[in-house]
Amino acid sequence: MTPAPQETYDVVVVGGGPAGATAAEHLAKAGRSVLLLDRAGRIKPCGGAIPPRLMRDFDVPDSVLVAHATSARMIAPSARQVDMPIEGGFVGMVDRETFDEWLRERAARAGAERRTGLFERIERDADGVAMVCYRRLDAAGGEELSRVRARSVVGADGARSQLARQTIKGAERMPCVFAYHEIIRSPANLEADFDARRCDVFYQGRLSPDFYAWIFPHGETASIGVGSARKGFSLRGAVKALRASTSLQDCETLRTEGAPIPLKPLKRWDNGRDIVLAGDAAGVVAPASGEGIYYAMTGGRHAADAVEVFLKTGSPRALANARRTFMRTHGTVFWVLGIMQHFWYRSDKRRERFVTMCADPDVQRLTWQAYMNKELVRADPLAHARIFFKDMGHLLGLSSP
Ligand SMILES: Cc1cc2nc3c(=O)[nH]c(=O)nc-3n(C[C@H](O)[C@H](O)[C@H](O)COP(=O)(O)OP(=O)(O)OC[C@H]3O[C@@H](n4cnc5c(N)ncnc54)[C@H](O)[C@@H]3O)c2cc1C
Repeated sequence: MTPAPQETYDVVVVGGGPAGATAAEHLAKAGRSVLLLDRAGRIKPCGGAIPPRLMRDFDVPDSVLVAHATSARMIAPSARQVDMPIEGGFVGMVDRETFDEWLRERAARAGAERRTGLFERIERDADGVAMVCYRRLDAAGGEELSRVRARSVVGADGARSQLARQTIKGAERMPCVFAYHEIIRSPANLEADFDARRCDVFYQGRLSPDFYAWIFPHGETASIGVGSARKGFSLRGAVKALRASTSLQDCETLRTEGAPIPLKPLKRWDNGRDIVLAGDAAGVVAPASGEGIYYAMTGGRHAADAVEVFLKTGSPRALANARRTFMRTHGTVFWVLGIMQHFWYRSDKRRERFVTMCADPDVQRLTWQAYMNKELVRADPLAHARIFFKDMGHLLGLSSP
C-alpha cells in the first residue's frame, strides 16, 4: 500500500552529477522547493576535461581545477604526432570526485535539500501527482523504500537512466560507446611519454577501432582511457597496450572504472506531463569528442528553465522547451561532429589523414576557438573556406597523408 505522502516538492531532481546539480541549483535560486536525490558512493568515470566557456557560464572558479592543459597531441596510426598548442587559452581539468560534490554543495547552499537514495520508480497518487520512489539506508543499516511527492521531476541520472527508461519512449534504445579508464599516479620517471600540461589523443585502430584513446593530466594523477562501441573489443587490453607504449605501465594504478557514453540525443526529453531529462540521461554528449560535462550543465539549466515555466503556467508543453532550446544552439555542432566521427574514425587510413589535417594552423585555431567558446567561429570566412577545400581534398584522397 502506498503510504500517505508527507512531503511535496516543486521539483525532485534525480541524479546529482553536473546536469542534476546545475538544475537543482538553478531552481532553488528561483525560490522553488527542490529535493536533489543522488545515490552515493561512486565516482563518475571521466576524463574531466572542461572548456573555459563552462567556467564562465556556470561561475566555476579556477580553484576547482586540478590542472590546466595548454596543448593537445594528436597521435596517428603511424605514430606521427601533431601538437596543437592553445593560443591564449587552456582546457580545464577537473577531478569528478571533488567537482561533482562541489556542484552539489553549491546547489545545497542555494536552498536545495540533498538526500542520498537510489531511485527506483515513479508511482502516481490518487490525484495523478508523481511519487518518486527510492531506496535509502534505514537507521539499522537495512534498506527501506521511501516516497516523495513531486509537482515535477528532472531526470539527470546519467546514461542508461532508469527514470528515462521508465517514462520516456525510446530511451531504452539509446546507442552508446563504452568507455574505460585507469586513474594512475602521475609518473615521476622521465622516460614516460607524459606532460602534465598536455592532453594526448590517440587515433589508432589498435587502441580503438571506432573512437579514440587518451591520456589526460589531472595534477597528481592522470586518466588513461579508451572508448569503443565495438562488441568484443578489449578496452582493458587497449589501455594496457597504451600504458606499455608510453612507459606508464609501472605507475601506481589508483582506480579502474568504465561507463557508457551516449552517442545521440533522444528525440524526446519530456513525458508531456511533468518529467524532463537532462545531460547523459537525455543522450547529450558531443559525438566524436565524447564531451559531456558542459552539455550536461547546459541541459540542466534548460531543464530548470522549462520546469520553472511549467510550474508557473501549469502547461506541460513548456517542458519541451528544454530540448528545443538546446538543439537550437548546439544541434548543428552535434550534427557536424556526428559526420566527423562517422567519416574519420572508420579506418587507419582515414585516421592518418585526420591527424595530418590537425597540423593545419587554420584547423587548430578554429578547433580551439570552437571548443573553448562553444560557438562556431563566423568571424573568419576565409579560414573556413580554406579548411573546406583542404577537407574536401582529404575526403577525396587528393592530399597526401
Ligand atoms: C570514461 C569517460 C570519460 C569521459 N571524459 C569526459 C571528458 O573528459 N570531458 C567531458 O566533458 N565529458 C567526458 N565524459 C562524459 C561525461 O562524463 C558525462 O557526459 C557527464 O558526466 C554527464 O553528466 P550527467 O550529470 O548527465 O550524468 P552523470 O555525471 O553520469 O551523473 C549522474 C548522477 O546520477 C546518479 N544516479 C545514477 N543512477 C541513479 C539512481 N538510480 N538513483 C539516484 N541517483 C542516480 C549518479 O550517482 C550520478 O551522480 C566522459 C565519460 C566517460 C564514461
